[in-house]
Amino acid sequence: MPWIPRGLREGIVTSRYPRRPDGYGEGFRGTMVVHSGRDGDHRIALAAEVCPTEAISIEHGQPRLDRGRCILCGRCAEVCPQVFGFDPSFETSAVRREALVVPDEHEDDEAVEKVRVELGRRVKALRRSVHIRHVDAGSDGAEEWEVAALTNPVYDVQRLGVFFTASPRHADLLVATGVGTAGMLEPLRETYDVMPDPKVVIAAGVDAISGGLVGGGYAARSGLTDSLPVDVFVPGSPPTPFGLLHGILLAVGLLPAGARRGQRPSNIRSLVRTERSAPGPASPEDPPREAGP
Ligand code: SF4
Repeated sequence: MPWIPRGLREGIVTSRYPRRPDGYGEGFRGTMVVHSGRDGDHRIALAAEVCPTEAISIEHGQPRLDRGRCILCGRCAEVCPQVFGFDPSFETSAVRREALVVPDEHEDDEAVEKVRVELGRRVKALRRSVHIRHVDAGSDGAEEWEVAALTNPVYDVQRLGVFFTASPRHADLLVATGVGTAGMLEPLRETYDVMPDPKVVIAAGVDAISGGLVGGGYAARSGLTDSLPVDVFVPGSPPTPFGLLHGILLAVGLLPAGARRGQRPSNIRSLVRTERSAPGPASPEDPPREAGP
């Protein structure tokens, strides 16, 4: 029984995120950032040229980076390190597609608040336990590794009252990955249709958001945003398990929309209660759930 001394030696490996920041997440290539410093337009233009997914554009002489397209290859940082660089932050999910573009000048506008309030109202009944149906709609498999990692002892998504289910009829959240291959669009739509209301859709990964490197061919769409009403966008190629956790918490209303690095959940008490206790029945004031067709 070698695992007993090993377990005693290593102690508890399960992350405390989001109750506490987790240094484990700092070791990843979380996201690409645009520094305020400039290194000359020609280098920014060169970075835009070498970007394989056209994630970089130049507007009014300023670089703009679309995280919904960025596959984190690092080419821009190689040719223009004064402007582009990696940041370990993984809390980059957003409830608006536009918010993935940095710098985002409209982060606090009325539209964000409207989306946040609407999503919060819709998911009010989901906070005690949440079931996820994951559908791979043409991924390269990278996202699937990260989604599967959510259930391992380090991330242990079940501690937050979040579970995976094989049946879309039992699911609250649809986590969709992949570019949207022609053969998977109908099964994906059918999965969404039979899920009971309220339901939330997460587009996980750049492929699902914009098609990434390979979307847009004769057999695939450029992401899933035209096929599904996406509520939360999780950038990354693939997003890390912490990035996915951030997106899931955002989707069920346990994080403020547009939460940035280091922000803790707004309703931490509700989360702690969920983490400590087994999922219980919904309270009488929660709206009844509607069965899918
Ligand atoms: S890291 Fe992202 S923005 Fe930079 S070149 Fe690669 S895909 Fe483009």
